[in-house]
Amino acid sequence: MTVREDPRLAEAKLIPAQEMVDRLGIVGLRRAGQELSGPCPHCGGRDRFNINTRTGAFLCRQCDMRGGDSIALVQQVLGLGFLDALSWICGERPAQMDAKQMEERRRRAAKAEEKRQREAARYREQAIRDARRIWAAAQPAEGTLVRDYLAARGITRELMPVMPRALRFIPSHGYLKKMDGETAVRHRGPAMIAGVLSPRGEIAAVHQTWIDPNPPHGKAKIVVGEETLPAKMVRGSKKGGAIRLSGDQIGEFHTLVVAEGIETTLSAQVIMGGDGVAFWAGVDLGNMAGRMERVQGTRHSGRPDMSDSEAFVPPPGLKRLIFVQDGDSDPKATRAKLLSGLRRAMAHFPELRAQIVHAGAGQDLNDVLMGKGAEYELSQD
Ligand SMILES: [Zn+2]
Repeated sequence: MTVREDPRLAEAKLIPAQEMVDRLGIVGLRRAGQELSGPCPHCGGRDRFNINTRTGAFLCRQCDMRGGDSIALVQQVLGLGFLDALSWICGERPAQMDAKQMEERRRRAAKAEEKRQREAARYREQAIRDARRIWAAAQPAEGTLVRDYLAARGITRELMPVMPRALRFIPSHGYLKKMDGETAVRHRGPAMIAGVLSPRGEIAAVHQTWIDPNPPHGKAKIVVGEETLPAKMVRGSKKGGAIRLSGDQIGEFHTLVVAEGIETTLSAQVIMGGDGVAFWAGVDLGNMAGRMERVQGTRHSGRPDMSDSEAFVPPPGLKRLIFVQDGDSDPKATRAKLLSGLRRAMAHFPELRAQIVHAGAGQDLNDVLMGKGAEYELSQD
């Protein structure tokens, strides 16, 4: 029996990352969405260590702790070889795996996987319900602080006469966040609410931006204890969805421009807008890219994993799809993600012309709109 045939391999892979963390006695990690983060089990610190609970992949930003799954985690924390790590996780490998035992192991693994999927589905349903409740409670954004917030980012009424329907406003919106295992309202204030539509055109998530009630109405500063929390938060299931800032009627546009955030997308609209061109915010790069194929020897293959059935795919009938690349600390990774998303789209629609527009090193289109970094030229390729 080779290592690949060892049934313990499949069994080990199905053990949830959280369970493995507990068994290894790693303490102090906190969950945020799919990520666990906190002190590194090897070199300590505060929040330099991350584990993706879906894949088990982990990474320390300080030391050499990194790997693709929970088996690698056990190897590195305990200093074990691969087979010893498997034995630590699943028990000794019998000299001869009898058929009955193997069947039992497979059955247990399948059951664990089923349970994991059921829990994930339940969590997701709840998040979507929350998103729809928030969306329904919000009012149209025209004539509210949302105008001031956008104007402070250079997106004035003159440049954007019509407020997108995808944007709404809540005068006093609770900032709900789980910290140290307890979910509570950490801040309350005015918020811009953007609807994230699923490919079927239903609200599947809301993108929330808390606004400073004092002029010039930038993002709210949300400080809890010593921690500054991000003023933007998504609730719901954004996968494959987008904030349709203009062009919410499929079929009424031939070119779709997708940028990451709301402000960069609206800036793109101001700079590049025209008849038959729609502007959608893809929420984040990961969502625009979908899952990438893993290719040995490269960290970012730039090739789409076509088995990702929930990845973003543009609507049919487009002639052109343009992704906007923001200036970024890791331009190589960013570019690979954008390429992955565009190649996925082209695999679905071979006639589609796809391209990337880059705002220039270290800046995004909103900086361009605000006149910052004018020494850079807008390059297109
Ligand atoms: Zn470390």
